[in-house]
Amino acid sequence: MRHISKISDLRDQLRGQNRVAFVPTMGNLHEGHLSLMRIAATHGDPVVASVFVNRLQFGPNEDFDKYPRTMADDAAKLEGENVYVMFAPTERDLYPEPQDYRITPPNDLGNTLEGEFRPGFFGGVCTVVTKLFNCVQPKVAVFGKKDYQQLMIIRRMVDQMSMPIEIIAAPTVRDPDGLAMSSRNRYLSAEDRAEAPHLYRLLNELSKEVQSARPNGEQLLQLQAKYLATLQERGWKPDYFEARRQVDLMRPTEEDLSNQTPLVILAAAKLGQTRLIDNLEIE
Ligand code: AMP
Repeated sequence: MRHISKISDLRDQLRGQNRVAFVPTMGNLHEGHLSLMRIAATHGDPVVASVFVNRLQFGPNEDFDKYPRTMADDAAKLEGENVYVMFAPTERDLYPEPQDYRITPPNDLGNTLEGEFRPGFFGGVCTVVTKLFNCVQPKVAVFGKKDYQQLMIIRRMVDQMSMPIEIIAAPTVRDPDGLAMSSRNRYLSAEDRAEAPHLYRLLNELSKEVQSARPNGEQLLQLQAKYLATLQERGWKPDYFEARRQVDLMRPTEEDLSNQTPLVILAAAKLGQTRLIDNLEIE
């Protein structure tokens, strides 16, 4: 595996490759990330992974400085997955000048759910992903459903900007107790780690209730409020716990609910100092 930090070296290394499968990450790799490398290998060749903690997507009071950086470990893991190039630019390599040109997703998708609680987050994501796509020029790129809204926003961006890249969705990889793997799980205290799988359990419970009760709009709001209250009682600080339409993440209308339009429940909540997100598609 080649470990490359400069954009010009990356271009030299990938010249003539037209089936590159790309997996962007922020490093501190776990099994969830590695599953993406394996999926990438079934869609293209060679596989290129990037490791870059993107300052643009962190708010002023978020954990950019504290975000775990474990480059040597990450390189060993990628090597073990037969990744051809690990592209790990420094900030100066990727942003030699202030990034004044930005890609901003539309309000309805970019400022709801995660976007409501992390203003500017998806603009930072779209800008860095566009930049990485321009550096790597992949044929396909793989993103995790763990970040459901991000996946949808990237898909729409690629479509609207006519980027010639196929976006592949990868299922969420979980610990045996159901907790979605995340680089941020390492911040959880032992007590919080024991509590953390409840987020996924509650997603499953709401999913079952929606399937069996077939609520109207008012009843769905009441159900969601009940789950928010349960999280609070258990010591969480929830940001949202909401069923949305799978197709566009808008709130379901009465018609959607009576027609059983496919929904996904999305949740974000803080446990101690750690903010966890998860989601579950209602079958
Ligand atoms: P991150 O390093 O957190 O920016 O994530 C890089 C990519 O890995 C994104 O496409 C994430 O959606 C994906 N990812 C993160 N955690 C998981 C997981 N537990 N299962 C599947 N994909 C994941």
